[in-house]
Amino acid sequence: MDKKERLRSLYKVDEVLQDECLVFFKEKLPYALVADSVRKEIGLLRAEILNEDDPPAALTERQLFLERVIRRIQTDATPSLRRVINATGTILHTNLGRSPLSEKAIRRVVETACSYSTLEYDLKTGRRGSRHDHVRSLICRATGAESAMVVNNNAAATMLVLSSMADGREVVVSRGELVEIGGSFRIPDIMSLSGVTLREVGTTNKTHLSDYVQAIDPERTAALMKVHTSNYRIIGFTDDVPLSDLRKLGDRYDLPVIYDMGNGLLADLKDYKIFEPSVTEAMRDGADIMLFSGDKLLGGPQAGIIIGKKKYIEKMERHPLARVVRIDKMTLSALEAVFFGYQDMETAMKEIPTLQMLTCPKEDLYEKARLLAEQLALADDTLRIGIESCEDLIGGGSAPDVRLAGYAVTLHMDALTAKQIEYQLRKSPVPIISHICQDRVWLHMRTIMDKDIKDLVESILNLKG
Ligand SMILES: *Cc1c(COP(=O)(O)O)cnc(C)c1O
Repeated sequence: MDKKERLRSLYKVDEVLQDECLVFFKEKLPYALVADSVRKEIGLLRAEILNEDDPPAALTERQLFLERVIRRIQTDATPSLRRVINATGTILHTNLGRSPLSEKAIRRVVETACSYSTLEYDLKTGRRGSRHDHVRSLICRATGAESAMVVNNNAAATMLVLSSMADGREVVVSRGELVEIGGSFRIPDIMSLSGVTLREVGTTNKTHLSDYVQAIDPERTAALMKVHTSNYRIIGFTDDVPLSDLRKLGDRYDLPVIYDMGNGLLADLKDYKIFEPSVTEAMRDGADIMLFSGDKLLGGPQAGIIIGKKKYIEKMERHPLARVVRIDKMTLSALEAVFFGYQDMETAMKEIPTLQMLTCPKEDLYEKARLLAEQLALADDTLRIGIESCEDLIGGGSAPDVRLAGYAVTLHMDALTAKQIEYQLRKSPVPIISHICQDRVWLHMRTIMDKDIKDLVESILNLKG
């Protein structure tokens, strides 16, 4: 058979689609998806015929070809955004979706999202209400703030705050705090996008109160701003001006003080040696307006939370940008549940997965590792399992200097390299994200959830050497 003949004997889309082995898929999945998969596989086979001297096996063996089609259908039918098992030990893993939500928050989302809701309706008056009212009083109770509003994320919050409080004027920020958070969020860029002129003061390592004083201009200055250097630390010969001192300066010159704190920590984690600034402390130190993410140390959904003086918040709610960055009802439901939980800190610590993982004692992680290792002992003896102490990270650009002492289960096989094990685990039905160290695959117990264990064990036992 020459290439021309091979091409002529290539399968036809319509004919393959009639094959009995595809009936199940045609019933379960959109016809267009199945047809497209058949078309793609025929296209690939055509390329193989043209590029290879020998006839491809799938051309002569129909079953082989059909298996390829089915694999393609299964791949194409798998959702792109899907659950994974985070075995990296990095809690707020930015690439893996930062904070997982609590069961309670999810139930609230489902309840409001699949029905009509009071999103912008006031049941008392029967008139239009504000979406911000659903969480305002809960946030105020949890933080001690006078008022609050929520938007899409903290980057959006920063823009809205700056645009509404300082448009066309200057905001004074220390040079040591001009942060970049993950690529496209840079304080100087957000400032210019908000129509604000950045007035940098001090140096990278040291900024004094007098630097701020010198930069203040009665006409041009609109606000003083402090940005928490969430994702890096400047150590050594350093000095920065604490929020409480900026507050005094703000009072002296009648300027509002804005604090972008990023992490949104409400719990007290000092017992766990995590010394991140907390929302309530910063409120006490006197920020007029403070903003933080919903899905970092708060442990909620992606959101930007703005708290502080009522007069500024009211202005933000009326600002045209508020509509551009407005929060959706699903996020709002989840946030309401999260802040409701924070009314009792003990409950919050138990319910919020991020806080659970952060505060999980080392002994519990060891026990979890031991139980996992025990289940894996069912494997044949080509799989070598170890339990090692390890260091976990908070991640999400928070507390970069904190290392949490944890435990990992390590995997080693003679028949597979660590890289091959990592790859196979990543390709499992529920993908497992792990890392390699000392030629072994490490599964950090801190971020592996109880509901992950069954799938994890199954995938490991299925490793093929
Ligand atoms: C994380 C962070 C942001 C960006 O928040 P997103 O919710 O990711 O938009 C802004 N400022 C600081 C200080 C942060 O830590």
